[in-house]
Amino acid sequence: MNLILLGPPGAGKGTQARKLVDAYDMVQLSTGDMLREARTSGTEMGKIVADVMDRGDLVTDEIVIGLIREKLGAGKAGGGFIFDGFPRTLAQADALGALMAEMGQTLDHVVEMQVDDAALVARITGRSTCGDCGEVYHDQTKPIPADGKCSNCGGSSFQRRADDNEDSLKTRLLAYYKQTSPLIGYYYAKGQLKSVDGLASMDQVAASIAAAIGPVRAGA
Ligand code: AMP
Repeated sequence: MNLILLGPPGAGKGTQARKLVDAYDMVQLSTGDMLREARTSGTEMGKIVADVMDRGDLVTDEIVIGLIREKLGAGKAGGGFIFDGFPRTLAQADALGALMAEMGQTLDHVVEMQVDDAALVARITGRSTCGDCGEVYHDQTKPIPADGKCSNCGGSSFQRRADDNEDSLKTRLLAYYKQTSPLIGYYYAKGQLKSVDGLASMDQVAASIAAAIGPVRAGA
């Protein structure tokens, strides 16, 4: 089973992707994580994308399609792939379709996570992640444990993303509405779109996603 999680920044795509990884042994492919990794390791590409990401604009289709192509070619995903934050443009959606066809794979579900804009600001500005395992925390809804240790891996370094601020969020939202939201119509027309309420609790959203994608075949 291969699926896309689609939604604006702060909709909870990363959090739900991690739940799907645990529940269905899937592989999360987050282009945002790949780009942040490239920045941290100081690659040429990382340097090129740094300013664009901090502003909240989209990096070029060529770069992200290249990253996805590399990851898809690198190995098989047991339970399938979760595309988190990709595709974000129509060109990326077309490229993903072509890549999947090349690999003899199908895209089984596109899950749109619906969240209203006012909630996104609160979600994004309170967000932090464990530097070791990527577990997501939030100042109000899921604070870092009092002992300062990640509840998932015990790590003690937590990070806030440089682009998780109100200015950058405005640009990211604009990019979402201008460049990414047309994908909702694109996948609807292909009969692949399922929508869930992303404002519910984390577990409720996970349950809605499970209901939307239906029973998962063992080893599929
Ligand atoms: P994310 O972690 O998905 O919110 O992505 C963080 C930033 O990485 C975005 O604001 C973009 O600058 C860049 N980015 C991530 N995925 C893509 C993509 N599919 N296309 C273009 N830019 C992307």
